[in-house]
Amino acid sequence: KTKKEHIPVYPGLERYKLLEKLGDGAFSDVYKALEQNTQEKVAIKIIRKLEMNTGQRSRVLREVQIMRSLQHDSIISLYNFMETNQFYFLILELCEGGELFHQIIHLTYFSEDLARHCIWQIAEAIRYLHEEKGVVHRDIKPENLLFTPIPFIENHGRSQLLQPQDDDDEELKVDEGGFILNYGGGGIGKVKLADFGLSKLMINDEKVKTPCGTLAYTAPEIVRDEHYSKSVDMWALGCVLYTMLCGFPPFYDDSVDVLTDQVARGHYEFLSPWWDFISDDAKDLITHVLCLDPDDRYDIHQFMQHPWMANQIPSSDGQP
Ligand code: ADP
Ligand code: MG
Repeated sequence: KTKKEHIPVYPGLERYKLLEKLGDGAFSDVYKALEQNTQEKVAIKIIRKLEMNTGQRSRVLREVQIMRSLQHDSIISLYNFMETNQFYFLILELCEGGELFHQIIHLTYFSEDLARHCIWQIAEAIRYLHEEKGVVHRDIKPENLLFTPIPFIENHGRSQLLQPQDDDDEELKVDEGGFILNYGGGGIGKVKLADFGLSKLMINDEKVKTPCGTLAYTAPEIVRDEHYSKSVDMWALGCVLYTMLCGFPPFYDDSVDVLTDQVARGHYEFLSPWWDFISDDAKDLITHVLCLDPDDRYDIHQFMQHPWMANQIPSSDGQP
């Protein structure tokens, strides 16, 4: 992180001062940046058009179109979109806390309260997408879940494992940057869903609002497709929950063939000793999401109604 990286100059982006690189992908680099006039900090996803074919370019435009239609506290906002001959620029809401993925590595694993606090916010984002917008994300994973920590005035030094060691759990847990991690009943501030690069608007999203009218003429494969796509997000949500609670994913093997087979069979375990002290409620919820048959899988509504989720402690930051 301390390593000085060369930051290129991008024609068309003069309004912004690029500060540091936050991440990258196949065709993109994401920078933290400062709007020169307003001094507002943003994230800019810079996508290299020239390396992309027509299909890939139209997928970026779809990402932009979908993001423009979304407005939710647990979803990264798209502030602006610009295009030059060489680049697409997506000006995004900045999430200073980085990826949830890094927090899992940093903390080893999450307490159930902290996991619930994060998963609840992600579930709210998914409920909004599935039930109000007819959008499926299709790429839910820890790298695409970003968080905004609550800045702390004083740096109390390094954070400890968030899993409570004993009853002395009153003390604020703070990371090296001076961010409160256990804010609001076991939280790490706000968690937001990013990266709509694979997201898809369901063709018959109209039916979300008018269940009977349009649905009566909708072909079964479209209804089925919508149902299966949404259940893909639920599976991924289950994988994220599993990973948060124990620190490793439900399906993993160095060999792609073995891993593929594990996933195809839906074979995972609550491995001892890691899962020994995790509640039965948490395991029960995971079992209802990581089930092979999408018809058996909980939808987002059932997920949020489950006792483990419904125990959500109201926190002071506007979350229910
Ligand atoms: P890709 O489609 O290449 O995966 P993403 O949109 O997921 O692109 O961005 C890549 C990475 O950049 C993310 O995993 C994250 O680390 C970082 N990033 C993206 N958007 C933001 C943001 N708004 N705030 C902070 N970091 C971000
Ligand atoms: Mg991504």
